[in-house]
Amino acid sequence: MTKISNEKSICVNPSALPTIDQLIDLEITIQNEVESLKDEIDTARLEIEAISPKTSLGLHSRNSVIQMYEMAVAGLRRREERLAALEAALERMDNGEFGECEICHQGITWARLEVQPEALRCSHCA
Ligand SMILES: [Zn+2]
Repeated sequence: MTKISNEKSICVNPSALPTIDQLIDLEITIQNEVESLKDEIDTARLEIEAISPKTSLGLHSRNSVIQMYEMAVAGLRRREERLAALEAALERMDNGEFGECEICHQGITWARLEVQPEALRCSHCA
């Protein structure tokens, strides 16, 4: 973690911060992604049940079934983590805390939030 010795040395250009319109668009984008992630998670859970190592081996060797199972579980975990991060971002939008760095409390630039709306820190403190 970068140590901030002098907060005043970091001064975010106000024109780099998101506008209200950009935030409204971003909220819709996040909500859409949350919905599709929930669908993907449901599908992934069904897939994982279907390829559980306990199921009949069929054409696959036991090792490749286990490998498929582990990959599917890892994919599910990634989606669940992303879903939690995006839901937390929506919550911060409701609380008016969205886009504020948790370390230096300065605004996070739009360039960063646009690609990473779940970001909790500005690029200086990341
Ligand atoms: Zn910061």
